[in-house]
Amino acid sequence: MVVDEADAVVVGSGINGLVAAAELALAGWSVIIVERAPRIGGFIATEERTLPGYLHDTYSSWHLLFVSGPAHAALGEPLRAHGLTYRTADSWVAASVADDGRTALVHRDPERTAAAFAHASDGTAYLAALARLEANMGAIGGLMGSELRSPALLRHAAALLRRGRGGLEPWIRAMATSGRGYTRSTYTGDEVDHLYAPWLLHAGLSPDHASGAFMIPLLAAGLHGFGLPVVEGGSGRFLDAFRSLLDSLGVRIDTGAHVERILVERGRAVGVVASGRPLRARRAVLASVTPTALYGALLPKGAVSPRLRAEAARFRYGRGEMQIHVALSAPLDWRDERLRSVPLVHLSDGSGSTGIACAEAEAGLLPARPTVVVGQQYLLDPTRVPEGAAALWLQLQEVPFARGGASPRPCGPARRRPRRSG
Ligand SMILES: Cc1cc2nc3c(=O)[nH]c(=O)nc-3n(C[C@H](O)[C@H](O)[C@H](O)COP(=O)(O)OP(=O)(O)OC[C@H]3O[C@@H](n4cnc5c(N)ncnc54)[C@H](O)[C@@H]3O)c2cc1C
Repeated sequence: MVVDEADAVVVGSGINGLVAAAELALAGWSVIIVERAPRIGGFIATEERTLPGYLHDTYSSWHLLFVSGPAHAALGEPLRAHGLTYRTADSWVAASVADDGRTALVHRDPERTAAAFAHASDGTAYLAALARLEANMGAIGGLMGSELRSPALLRHAAALLRRGRGGLEPWIRAMATSGRGYTRSTYTGDEVDHLYAPWLLHAGLSPDHASGAFMIPLLAAGLHGFGLPVVEGGSGRFLDAFRSLLDSLGVRIDTGAHVERILVERGRAVGVVASGRPLRARRAVLASVTPTALYGALLPKGAVSPRLRAEAARFRYGRGEMQIHVALSAPLDWRDERLRSVPLVHLSDGSGSTGIACAEAEAGLLPARPTVVVGQQYLLDPTRVPEGAAALWLQLQEVPFARGGASPRPCGPARRRPRRSG
């Protein structure tokens, strides 16, 4: 008999829903995951999109954030036991090709990366930024993982304050400073800007958004510390490992079931209605959905304070994005031979071109010189392509969320742009 009740009901089976369900089940809770799509995974999928034998990660691909975070610390071992294998870069990790063809590269070894900068002082500043971050990582990680307005947040801020003037203040400054401002004020040459301004796109930022000065050293530390992990056999294998782990823990997964509302009694979430059927939650309902959906549709009107509801109504969505998957009979013939062994290459002129492209996208325009993210995952995991072949995962992150805006040329044709000769 199917029992429509569990300790926790998790709405959505993207990575956040899967992690929550697995951690709760490992702690002994009974869990039901409810997913409206016919398959689990949200923005994780691997498909033979082009030709037989080519496995393309349709959406997300690089698991740097997952592998470097607390969920992997808790679930890495059990997922390995259920078939998850990561492959990552040991030498060159990432690169950027500027408009004039100059290439800047990130190596797993920070010293080797810094040694390639034209100005020795830039290398020193880069290594100092990484060292400063490492020395404060406990408190910084705590701040990033704490709820806003929580005692935990204050505790971590206090830990930095106790280190005196150099404790908290530099981090507050970094949070208020853009990536462009940081690279201009800290480095003489442009390698750090070329390398890391496009990485800000992966944090949902642009080179002119506040907090880039904080994010650039953080992203750099992640690349040096973890490389760029991808799942052997494609990200779909990540879902296979989760499915197997969750099955072994007795987690029930209902796919094709759309949660229409969350049931609230006496101020507590006590279940959901999914495709017309009630599911009771004895201890918690977890919803990994957008704020608009959670506060605007799923929760009944009086369930949260008017202030929280108003804050959720003001939530703004970021830029859109687009991906193109290419099957190749042989690896790309980059003019700079070093790029033939780099898993992720940005075609960007740093803050210059990426900043303008972001501004255009945010104004509702198609950028004239978009940043192109070129993923060569097959270098880390050759099982994704036929022997001797190659594939590209091309990502464009400066896509307007909505068309139109400030200019009379909404989504107009691209201007001719300088050739990149990388
Ligand atoms: C094209 C693309 C590329 C990306 N590349 C990377 C990358 O390389 N590395 C990286 O770290 N991040 C990447 N990201 C970001 C990453 O995919 C997201 O951060 C991640 O998917 C968020 O996971 P989530 O579980 O919160 O949400 P989602 O993955 O969006 O999952 C939410 C799930 O909830 C379900 N759902 C929603 N509402 C309901 C409802 N009412 N009832 C039932 N089910 C519901 C949805 O169907 C979906 O399956 C990429 C994103 C995109 C779009």
